[in-house]
Amino acid sequence: MGGGNNVLVAVRCRPMSEREKEKGASPCVESEDDKMTVTDKASGEQRQFSFDYCYMSSGIASDLPDEQAKIYQVLGTEVLNQAYQGYNVTVMAYGQTGSGKSLTMVGRPSAAGQDCRGLIPRISEGIFNPEVPAGEGMVLAKVELQMLEIYNEQVRDLLAGPGGSSVVKVREDPASGPYVEGLTKHTVLVYEDVCEKLEVGLQARTIAGTKMNAGSSRAHTICQLHITRTNLTSTSRARAIDTSSLINLVDLAGSERVAEAGTADNVVRIKESVNINKSLTALGQCIRALSEGRADSKHVPYRDSQLTWLLKNSLGGNAKTIMVAAVAPGSSEYAETLSTLRYADRMR
Ligand code: ADP
Repeated sequence: MGGGNNVLVAVRCRPMSEREKEKGASPCVESEDDKMTVTDKASGEQRQFSFDYCYMSSGIASDLPDEQAKIYQVLGTEVLNQAYQGYNVTVMAYGQTGSGKSLTMVGRPSAAGQDCRGLIPRISEGIFNPEVPAGEGMVLAKVELQMLEIYNEQVRDLLAGPGGSSVVKVREDPASGPYVEGLTKHTVLVYEDVCEKLEVGLQARTIAGTKMNAGSSRAHTICQLHITRTNLTSTSRARAIDTSSLINLVDLAGSERVAEAGTADNVVRIKESVNINKSLTALGQCIRALSEGRADSKHVPYRDSQLTWLLKNSLGGNAKTIMVAAVAPGSSEYAETLSTLRYADRMR
């Protein structure tokens, strides 16, 4: 993702789930090199897409730690490289609920010596790793963390304190653009501080979801790492110039369509679905406009959703975006998988 190419797209296919096997589904996704092919088992029709990276799970449970590590080695180190070149970097996991977005972004707690952590903890660890240089002549000065979720176009601070989450508003600064008013910012000194906050934030997300009678997958969750570096080559500390970059790590709400039926529960689901669809469509349009080099155009629809509005500075301008599209392999999920691959394909 060097030079003018601001968007990198990776696709990850998880193993068949028990649910898919019980439904009698058979695998319908194959991958070779940077190509992923999906087959409609009913008609035999195949669609093939090319991406920057394709990751296919081996289906062997003990391979997961290596698969998680590989994704960090390729995508996570790219995030740090870009951030240390002064870019704002955004990583987003897109896909239907249950496709592997959270596993990719957050991972599973390590157990029995198996390290199954996802990109958020590994990138955070990389920031504090003294062996990862923070750019030529630069040292890490400060790292701050914010965590928020967007549920039904409402933004909530996930690190607001013991009361769980609190509602905050996206405002616009005439000079610097959109920002979230009142969103708490937490200085983190070591990797373990990030883990602690991450756990608190994820917990607040679940509580918020339960209160609203909604699964957390119906919200977009954003973890923001603000990194400040100091230029050591400056002759005096007083004149040292600080450089800041922002890393946004986004676990997007499930992209699946919800069946329309008139039950009370479904009215809530449909409202969620309409809002998710609106924001994912806006996100797709913004990234696409930017990847086509229309960064300065008035036609980038940032204002169409809270998600794109608050990520405005991280999508356009001095920014790099990595999208990880997560898909399920089973033929029962064919329609959603094809839809995810199409969405990811349009980003390039
Ligand atoms: P999402 O966040 O998209 O709703 P999850 O990340 O929670 O999906 O994944 C759903 C389930 O599938 C979880 O039990 C998860 O551990 C499992 N899973 C997802 N991706 C993989 C993978 N690559 N290898 C093994 N298990 C996976």
